[in-house]
Amino acid sequence: MGRLDNKVAFITGVARGQGRAHAVRLAGEGAQIVGVDIAGPLPGVPYDPATQADLDETGRLVEEQGSKAHLVRCDVRDLDELKAAVDDGVAAFGGLDIAVANAGICIPETWDEVTPTSFRDTMDINVIGAWNTVTATAPHLIERGGGSIILTSSFAGKKMQPFMVHYTTSKHALVGMTRAFAAELGNHNVRVNSIHPGAVATPMGSGQMVARIEETNAANPRLAGMGMTFLNQFVAEADEIANVVAFLASDESKFITAEHISIDGGAQYF
Ligand code: NAD
Repeated sequence: MGRLDNKVAFITGVARGQGRAHAVRLAGEGAQIVGVDIAGPLPGVPYDPATQADLDETGRLVEEQGSKAHLVRCDVRDLDELKAAVDDGVAAFGGLDIAVANAGICIPETWDEVTPTSFRDTMDINVIGAWNTVTATAPHLIERGGGSIILTSSFAGKKMQPFMVHYTTSKHALVGMTRAFAAELGNHNVRVNSIHPGAVATPMGSGQMVARIEETNAANPRLAGMGMTFLNQFVAEADEIANVVAFLASDESKFITAEHISIDGGAQYF
């Protein structure tokens, strides 16, 4: 018996990293998985997305858990495309109970490197993409009589981070989005919470982002010598984030909504 037997989950950014970990974990608890990923080029955006092979591998791993996977390529910025992907998944599995807005990009730039284009790209994918995800999935959760929505924010959505103004702004926006949707969807037994990971060992977290933060801090007299516990001592595995997603997706958390859960090893600037 899994905690999510007979449930169906929709996950964005499912091809690798945390999205893949969520898919495998929720499948291991018995859920069928509907997922999307750009899984191909993001023209003009300085970020290296997942590939079709990554998406296929997620499907294989989900099936290894004994669940079915309905995974398609889709850009979360396109509401019509996203709605079609969700509707197809619902048609395949008969309904939807869980939605995880996980897709996001991080462009490692200091405040004076950010451009209007990189700011807009970040907001389009991280904020509009999450809004599109809730908009496309909520009607199906309501039809089911309730469900759980999880928005992936960040340490950078709660605390000071001297880096990446666009990313930090986008992740703070998800706190407001969580509260607004929780207030409106609560009447339908749909819970909405945000998660706030610290550094996670994924293609995004363990590569250039960490190196740029360390480099930026070292070059700034007020930040030199400062660090974050998660940078220097604690980088999470994606599974550790997926454990919390599984809890928030399950009825074990049925009295938790409009909350913002840190999963960051107690990270602080010091
Ligand atoms: P990742 O880059 O490894 O994975 C992100 C996935 O999203 C990729 O598969 C990518 O192809 C997909 N994606 C990007 N743009 C897309 C689009 N427009 N449409 C559809 N799919 C798209 O990163 P991750 O670490 O797994 O990040 C997952 C989430 O966690 C992101 O929202 C990220 O901001 C957040 N986060 C990451 C960290 C970290 O340290 N890794 C920390 C805090 C929060």
